[in-house]
Amino acid sequence: MPYQLFHDIFPNQAERETRVIHLSGPHPFTGVPAGEYGLLEAFCNEKGCDCRRVMWMVSSGRTNETVAVVAYGWGSPSFYRNWYGGDDPYIVQEMRGPILNLASPQGPYAPAILDMLTRIILTDKQYIARVKRHYTQFRNKIKTGARFRA
Ligand SMILES: [Zn+2]
Repeated sequence: MPYQLFHDIFPNQAERETRVIHLSGPHPFTGVPAGEYGLLEAFCNEKGCDCRRVMWMVSSGRTNETVAVVAYGWGSPSFYRNWYGGDDPYIVQEMRGPILNLASPQGPYAPAILDMLTRIILTDKQYIARVKRHYTQFRNKIKTGARFRA
């Protein structure tokens, strides 16, 4: 499951439609420090795959560094059982997330950022609908051979 930034294929649209969280002070409840956090969307670019997941590369506006990588899948548990052909609840849970992606380096505030996204992003239906639209758009490009264009 190689993930590629939506921005690689749709740079102009990504400029307009990438969510940025602005915190003028520490986020209540989670303690994420003040700053700007860009949610750069990456999707799987494997041909023929339909894993229905987004990987948010959370980038700090102050340093431009990736401070957390959060994976989230919107398929149902039964979708993921079929998708990978087994019923290990741990794997299903990992596919659905939201979780910090195990294979990615994570900044010191990554667990707090995960908590913040769970509270304010996953509950935002309009935003999640937009991410799903981006996924569909991205996957259609992969079908027509745009993979690794970047
Ligand atoms: Zn995939």
